[in-house]
Amino acid sequence: MKVLITGGAGFIGSHLCSKFVNTGNEVICIDHLGTGSLNNIEDLGKTGRFKFMQKDVTKDLDDIEKVDLILHFASRASPSDYQTNSFDTLLANSIGTFNLLKKAQKDSARFLFASTSEVYGKAEVIPTPETYYGYVNSFGPRSCYDESKRFGEALCYEFIHKFNIDCRIVRIFNTYGPHMRYNDGRVMTNFIMQALDNEPITIYGDGKQTRSFCFVDDLIEGIYTLATKKELNGEVINIGNPEEVTILELAKKIVKVTNSKSKIIFKDLPMDDPPQRVPDITKAKKLLNWSPKIKLETGLAKMIEWMKE
Ligand code: UDP
Repeated sequence: MKVLITGGAGFIGSHLCSKFVNTGNEVICIDHLGTGSLNNIEDLGKTGRFKFMQKDVTKDLDDIEKVDLILHFASRASPSDYQTNSFDTLLANSIGTFNLLKKAQKDSARFLFASTSEVYGKAEVIPTPETYYGYVNSFGPRSCYDESKRFGEALCYEFIHKFNIDCRIVRIFNTYGPHMRYNDGRVMTNFIMQALDNEPITIYGDGKQTRSFCFVDDLIEGIYTLATKKELNGEVINIGNPEEVTILELAKKIVKVTNSKSKIIFKDLPMDDPPQRVPDITKAKKLLNWSPKIKLETGLAKMIEWMKE
């Protein structure tokens, strides 16, 4: 199979490139390198089944050859980064998704859109199933990400129903692992960096807000099955780890595991920061026979080792 992966030099995209190359597929990776890094994909060229093109998904994609599957992962995903680069985020998920859906139509290719748990906003139903419509602020600092992902999903819906394109949507919950940008402002990398440097650990708000963190290897298995299994056209599936932790507990765990001298300090909570986030993964279990295998302790140890390097 020939697979186009957008954002393929980024955190999740680069792991997907490896997965598809290692399972015998031919991969074309495109990335505008706004946040992606060639280091993440440096070994893949040797296989002879991997090609990189520096490209922006919002621009002309006509010179990309015909493919069988498109995975659209080109978007910033860290709140501090997507807010700084809000137009890049808005356009990658709107114009970029439209351009890639048109390519899927032209190539008769399957399409998988990387959506997010942020489409649920400040969810009132926890754990959150795919049927929950969301409680999202359309006019605030997180809107560039939340609403452009929601718009991307709406585009998929129209291409499925008007043009019969085989589209699938993954709603990704908090994920961590190697190839994350150590300075992109997300909680996992911030806390580990701070702990390793014995700097204060910066908790936003009182730290009682929760997240549930999925190690990237688990996530990739779920996405691979969603992308490759037959008869999943039109399915929207949460992929994440339901093991919930407060941000304060996470900080304490990281201080302990790294044997750090860091103190914990509290800063203002950013606007619209969701107080609780946990995926309901019943659908992924049923349709993909998928559930995460890697516990937070195990994943944290791997992540810390990688960040030390
Ligand atoms: N957070 C924090 N300190 C940091 C970075 C983030 O307390 O240095 C909090 C943030 O306010 C949020 C949670 O950790 O409640 C997760 O933030 P992140 O930016 O990783 O992504 P989000 O899950 O909000 O999309």
